[in-house]
Amino acid sequence: MTPASSHDRPRAVVIGSGFGGLALAIRLQAAGAAVIVVEARDKPGGRAYVYEQDGFRFDAGPTVLTAPTVIDELFKIANRDRADYVELTELTPLYRLLWQDGTSFDYSGDEATLEKAIAHLSPNDVEGYRRFRKYSRAVFAEGYERLAHVPFLDIWSMVRAAPKLVRLQSYRSVYGMVAKFIENDKLRQAFSYHTLLVGGNPFSTSAIYALIHALELKWGVHFPKGGTGALVAALVKLFRDLGGDIRLNAPVDQVLLESDRVGGVQLRDGEKIPAAFVASNADVIHTYASLLRDAPTARAAARKLEKSDHSMSLFLIYFGVKGGYPDLAHHTILFGPRYKDLLDDIFNRGVLADDFSLYLHSPSVTDPSLAPPGHSTHYVLAPVPHLGISNVDWGAAGPRLAERILAALEQRCMPGLREKLVTIRTFAPPDFESELNAWQGSAFSLQPTLLQSAWFRVHNRDDRIRGLYFVGAGTHPGAGIPGVVNSARATAGLMLADMAIE
Ligand SMILES: Cc1cc2nc3c(=O)[nH]c(=O)nc-3n(C[C@H](O)[C@H](O)[C@H](O)COP(=O)(O)OP(=O)(O)OC[C@H]3O[C@@H](n4cnc5c(N)ncnc54)[C@H](O)[C@@H]3O)c2cc1C
Repeated sequence: MTPASSHDRPRAVVIGSGFGGLALAIRLQAAGAAVIVVEARDKPGGRAYVYEQDGFRFDAGPTVLTAPTVIDELFKIANRDRADYVELTELTPLYRLLWQDGTSFDYSGDEATLEKAIAHLSPNDVEGYRRFRKYSRAVFAEGYERLAHVPFLDIWSMVRAAPKLVRLQSYRSVYGMVAKFIENDKLRQAFSYHTLLVGGNPFSTSAIYALIHALELKWGVHFPKGGTGALVAALVKLFRDLGGDIRLNAPVDQVLLESDRVGGVQLRDGEKIPAAFVASNADVIHTYASLLRDAPTARAAARKLEKSDHSMSLFLIYFGVKGGYPDLAHHTILFGPRYKDLLDDIFNRGVLADDFSLYLHSPSVTDPSLAPPGHSTHYVLAPVPHLGISNVDWGAAGPRLAERILAALEQRCMPGLREKLVTIRTFAPPDFESELNAWQGSAFSLQPTLLQSAWFRVHNRDDRIRGLYFVGAGTHPGAGIPGVVNSARATAGLMLADMAIE
């Protein structure tokens, strides 16, 4: 039952306003809790921050919106209609893939069109692709529809899921599984690179993540009118419409403890906010090592997590251009000369290589309002090693890498680019650390390997400190917008049960 008056409503504090934090706050508030979100930065959204510079709007992070149903559901549980808050457009193709030899492949969400493109590139692979698609749908049904929103709190939950996961060969890698079905090298890349969108190396990420293909076929890839920032603004408005309180420029210094349970949070300016329920959407190691520095169990948890495999970092360039590139797709992937070897450099050897693979975001082809009239907005990112395994002086290396990346774009798909640049800004691994408290500048928290997934990942409810919960990329099921919004569902279920709210 929902408590009647605001005085007897249980209070919860959510640290951080990433997609996971906002989704959790909405779920709790809609169910009857009194929720305060405290965000360190001056704008909400976390990795989905928005830069405004010289009349251009740049979405800082996530741009590929899959599974929009997870967003719609937040509005539904609040008895609202998402369409009243933000407009979503389905994109086609989902991505355009470009290789250095000039090959271009439109990755369509329409099965027949996609098969035609596969047949054009490698006729012998159509049959194998169909078997891969069948496999992808089977893991989707198990790994996404059944397990993504369910917390794994004890080993038995893992044991129960294990037989299915073994049958689906989740111990293999995504690349290994794709290669089992598909021969052509380019197509192997085309159906395995998606793990990078959630921080995983396709060669070591569990084949469960092959479900991304089925998820894209089912729901497509969407764009919120006004950019991802408009989606964040819609969630913030929904939360506020429900009576929720969000405080910006409010970095948490410490989670307050009363023996073995939380008592609230203390902000960096000394203000204390009492609460019996605290959920952290901040980086998991930052939470345990810094915000819970006085709790021995938390320090031990942090030490263990520090030894885990962390996702790669990213080097990003946001840039505004005079004129447009109307022939570009909204999302373009530019593969470099090496695939496995480059990923080894990034994930294993910690080498900042001379070559790169890129993701290019060109939202002005869908929504011209993001740039001044007669201009266009873009960002490009390159996966790079995180700070824990590399020793790069980003102050010197960043500008050099930016120049090389812009030259590559100019040569491969944006002719005359450098002469048309109007504004530019970059974001490098040390910025992930300083701006987002991200451990070693990792862009997606813990890697989604099998041994760091489900029960092996940070639990949605802490095992030892009562009243402490996690939501977001570091907890189950993991990174990416669908992942963190599903983590909010898992965490909200636990918190509401502990609050005795149904
Ligand atoms: C460049 C980039 C591109 C991406 N592209 C895609 C994509 O296309 N599609 C997709 O689905 N996913 C994408 N992702 C992944 C996705 O963006 C993330 O996994 C997801 O947004 C993370 O959400 P989160 O809930 O974990 O919180 P985060 O976004 O990590 O937010 C955490 C928040 O906590 C705040 N915080 C930290 N410490 C404190 C403190 N002490 N006190 C108060 N607040 C604090 C931070 O300021 C931040 O706002 C991308 C990620 C990046 C970096």
